[in-house]
Amino acid sequence: MVAPPAINSQLLEAVLRAVPGAVVATDPAGVITLINPAAESLFAITSAQAIGHPLQALHPTLGHRLARAQEEKLTSPLVFELELGDQHYYFASLAPMPNGSGLTGWVAVLQDVTPLKKLEQWKTEAIETAAHDLRDPLNLIAGATNFLRDSLPEPTREQDESLSMIKAATDRMAALIEQLLNLEHVESGAEITMARLTLRRVIEQVVRDFKLAADQKGVSLEFEGDPATGRVLGDESWLQRAAANLVSNAIKYTPGSGRVRVCYRESDGQGIVEVTDTGPGIPLEAQGRLFERFYRVRGAATRLNPGSGLGLAIVKTIVERHAGRVWVSSVEGQGSTFGFAVPLLK
Ligand code: ADP
Repeated sequence: MVAPPAINSQLLEAVLRAVPGAVVATDPAGVITLINPAAESLFAITSAQAIGHPLQALHPTLGHRLARAQEEKLTSPLVFELELGDQHYYFASLAPMPNGSGLTGWVAVLQDVTPLKKLEQWKTEAIETAAHDLRDPLNLIAGATNFLRDSLPEPTREQDESLSMIKAATDRMAALIEQLLNLEHVESGAEITMARLTLRRVIEQVVRDFKLAADQKGVSLEFEGDPATGRVLGDESWLQRAAANLVSNAIKYTPGSGRVRVCYRESDGQGIVEVTDTGPGIPLEAQGRLFERFYRVRGAATRLNPGSGLGLAIVKTIVERHAGRVWVSSVEGQGSTFGFAVPLLK
């Protein structure tokens, strides 16, 4: 077996020359110590001009992010998106370089993601256009169906069934279009307005909103929570929608006489929401895919309850837009708990 070559400065230089991404290293204080050719051409600067100057000199955002990473004594990389020049997008990572218990410095790596970003924008536009264009003919079908129902005061059983089928199908399509538009809006961030909110209040309101639906199905719905008053920087209507999707799923998939409990607590600087039901539960092999778009678990509960498979994808997108995370834990035959956590303001 051939032993791998030891990492020496020649090898390091060859690697830094070969990588397509821009790499900039600094000392612990943020003074540039190394810059590779890709970074030189990205920031239109030579190595001799850059070395010895603060990272801030390359781009103000890099300087701000480094200041934050230093302040918070980050031990893992800080990742963010950077727009440079004329609509050129970079995925940036700023990582500490540990040295025993100390710090050798920081390394920033920037990758050009402009083509991906363009594709994403194109996809968003295509879905939005298709969804908008589908709305009008769907409204026409719904209107014509209502007209037919009104003009048939005594329909035969077959006519009645056909009209009901058309109504159910148009309602499902309308809901699907609405959800696709929701997903695109929250993904693109176009309709997000951030404000300081007391998360507990948002969640309590959602529980109140669903009380009637739960009562009508014979499912008990309760809210439980410490008297917490932590605030988040968030969009109220989107956070409401995320919680509402979880509560509505729990009521939808839990049979009558079951229970749904919504808990809110605060821990480690996070606002934590958990929705627990006594429904059918979800097989282990399906749990990892629940938050994918259009994914629906095969089985009786899903067959009996129509849906788009987009609700949980919307929850995940909303929560991630708030720098949070989502999870599920479930035991088949016993019930499920869906949760999310978002960082609280300090
Ligand atoms: P939809 O409910 O419209 O199908 P979702 O994305 O909200 O879409 O949910 C995806 C799938 O996850 C559902 O089809 C269902 O199979 C499963 N699921 C979601 N919530 C629950 C729950 N509380 N109990 C059991 N299954 C659930």
